[in-house]
Amino acid sequence: MNSEQIWQAVLGEIEVNLSRANFVTWFKDTFISSFENDRVIVCVPNAFVKKWLEEKYHKNILSALENITKQKIKEIIYKIELRRTGGTIIANSHGDSKEDKQIPPVKKETFNAPAENNNNGINKFGLNPRYVFENFIVGRGNELAHAACLAIIDKLGKSYNPLFIYGGVGLGKTHLLQAIGNAVAKKTDKILYVTSEKFTNNYIQAVKSGKAKEFKNLYRNVDLLLVDDVQFMGGKDGTQEEFFHTFNELQQNDKQIVLTSDRPPKAIPAIESRLISRFESGMVADVGKPDIETKIAILEKKSIERGFPMEKELLAYLAEHVKNNIRELEGALTKVIVSHQFKGVAPTLKSVKEILNDYVSNIQIKSLTPKDVIEATAKFYNVTYKDLVGKGRKKELVWPRQIAIFLIREEIGTSYPTIGAELGGRDHTTAMHSYNKIHQEISEQGNEKAKQEIESIRQLFNTPY
Ligand code: ADP
Ligand code: MG
Repeated sequence: MNSEQIWQAVLGEIEVNLSRANFVTWFKDTFISSFENDRVIVCVPNAFVKKWLEEKYHKNILSALENITKQKIKEIIYKIELRRTGGTIIANSHGDSKEDKQIPPVKKETFNAPAENNNNGINKFGLNPRYVFENFIVGRGNELAHAACLAIIDKLGKSYNPLFIYGGVGLGKTHLLQAIGNAVAKKTDKILYVTSEKFTNNYIQAVKSGKAKEFKNLYRNVDLLLVDDVQFMGGKDGTQEEFFHTFNELQQNDKQIVLTSDRPPKAIPAIESRLISRFESGMVADVGKPDIETKIAILEKKSIERGFPMEKELLAYLAEHVKNNIRELEGALTKVIVSHQFKGVAPTLKSVKEILNDYVSNIQIKSLTPKDVIEATAKFYNVTYKDLVGKGRKKELVWPRQIAIFLIREEIGTSYPTIGAELGGRDHTTAMHSYNKIHQEISEQGNEKAKQEIESIRQLFNTPY
């Protein structure tokens, strides 16, 4: 094997256990430049990736390398270097120098709450001053997005542009987005925070009242544009057109754009492909569900902030039983605090359990599982669940099965081994091939029928059946 083949095999092994966003973010444009005896040089596109691979993925890379080459590796050096393939440079690293000395600001936290406030607590940029980095707890699930946010603040418009953050509801996307705004507000006034709905409404309003030019001037003259929930631009063609031009203008002038969405760019329904490719042209970072330690840390911080510190045991109980997201976790905490303050008694495990029982039964709206996806897919193609996870190799089953695999990966980000297991104990390579095949069909081959089918199945997730 040459070093290119070795690296491809290493990537294959690593990809299996990572969400797609993570994999693409950290391993795009990496390669081996030298492999001598037991010393390997891995080239990466910029300092941010270098640092992250060194700190987070070194072990995985090392073990995959040793696995594949069947030899001990003594040293891996991560080096910033861009590669030329087929005459074009692949990396998109704006402004990152080739030297290794530049350290990204991953650990630095020097942001204070912004000063400007009006009566309703929202400052003049439309930002809630409560959303800052100091009170954002970093843990599994959000560390990638958090690090990416800090990195862009440090080099506004020049490190990753745009930054696209996606993940389920109540997981901290708006908090991060506004924290960027609040931090940057100390350096510049030219900040705009909008939801995509507000952008749409403003635009329609402006066109109606003959003020399209003012609208353009406003949005194209900022140093930082924050757009929350861009998935709602789906289906709104006029808005997409306008946003596309706004986006280009800002990006070309190195003005920072940060977007959030409840799903990855490609999965946003009815969005123009040129916008998808713009959204993907900087960094895509996902936020996932927090692990139990992160949840406890969040509860601890919030209970102290509210002047109602609680014992770890009680917080752990809350963390364990409120499953879906951080917004609900906060809701449960509020309920517990308010109820005890009202009665004037100290919380016990028993009293917390009682309050939570009512609360949890009200909020446990199911989050999407691989089983839901398989069920919806089966329904759409008029086959049974059993057929899809079964052994049958008929054409009528193979295609729906591949679609189900693709959707599970796109929608939930499930690892390939788990997807294989969910589909009747298939091998992870089968899951991976299926994903890649469908991905190719809808991107490179432009298979419109497949796209529509996928879209229709997505609609089914959200309706009871
Ligand atoms: P999203 O925009 O993803 O739906 P939000 O940003 O509105 O979620 O977060 C929901 C609530 O949870 C907010 O009150 C936010 O402050 C809180 N929250 C989310 N993540 C964290 C975190 N890591 N640390 C502290 N609070 C968090
Ligand atoms: Mg939000």
